Amino acid sequence: MKKTLDRVALITGSGQGLGQAIARTLAREGAKIAINDLTLNEQKTLETATTLRAMGVEAEVFLADVTQESEVNSMVDKVIERYGRIDILVNNAGINRDGFIHKGNLQNWGAVLNVNLTGPFLCTKAVLPSMRNNNYGRIVNISSLTARMGILGTGYYATTKSGLIGLTRVTAAENATKGITCNALAPGYIKTDMMMKYPEEQLQALIAKIPVGRLAEPEEVAEAVLFMAEDFSAYITGAVLDINGGFLI
Ligand code: NAD
Repeated sequence: MKKTLDRVALITGSGQGLGQAIARTLAREGAKIAINDLTLNEQKTLETATTLRAMGVEAEVFLADVTQESEVNSMVDKVIERYGRIDILVNNAGINRDGFIHKGNLQNWGAVLNVNLTGPFLCTKAVLPSMRNNNYGRIVNISSLTARMGILGTGYYATTKSGLIGLTRVTAAENATKGITCNALAPGYIKTDMMMKYPEEQLQALIAKIPVGRLAEPEEVAEAVLFMAEDFSAYITGAVLDINGGFLI
């Protein structure tokens, strides 16, 4: 079958989990993939590249911490040097720290804010000049169900994921005349390390609240990223797509 995605995609935090599934899904459709992750996760990230290359696509690792402006700028320069352009940016890297606000602390607040919100801001800012020059871009931000409802204990995380929706809308508005779209996904609970670290009892209690009756497979969210990243999605911008198994109806 003809592959439809003759594009270059940079996916942050794609050494494992959802990011890795997004990389595989975009690669399946023909995209060249720039895999980003932390040096801390280098082994899994290199394995991701090997898997993608085995699929017959071009894939390269660009280690960088998305919270560090100099690392982000240098990563974007290197991706453009390697592939000639960046057409698709997926701001996927994220961390989670649970805790009630009245017991909260600035250390957790800062850590989550830096990765989940400053990271996407820096990456978006770094890719926009070349996307604007090329009159083409697809930016997909991975927000969360927690940005849509007040879930107990998600104060740090939900605040950053809500901010990411703001960043999405303004990026969409500012770049709409330049062939660039920016959209967000608001996934519910996905079967990745981020969720699997919860005790089994807590997980089962959570699953009992999901009308579909299970966690999402990473691929189910990755397919929605693909949809937002396709050329044909040019008229969808500033949108937030819920993918939560009916948790929020
Ligand atoms: P994960 O922990 O499995 O993967 C996150 C990846 O991001 C890791 O590879 C990690 O090394 C990388 N990362 C962390 N900090 C980074 C940094 N500063 N720079 C570069 N890379 C960094 O988590 P996941 O479940 O795959 O999450 C992916 C995204 O999906 C996150 O933004 C998360 O908030 C979001 N999300 C997850 C769920 C879920 O249920 N798992 C639900 C909604 C949204």
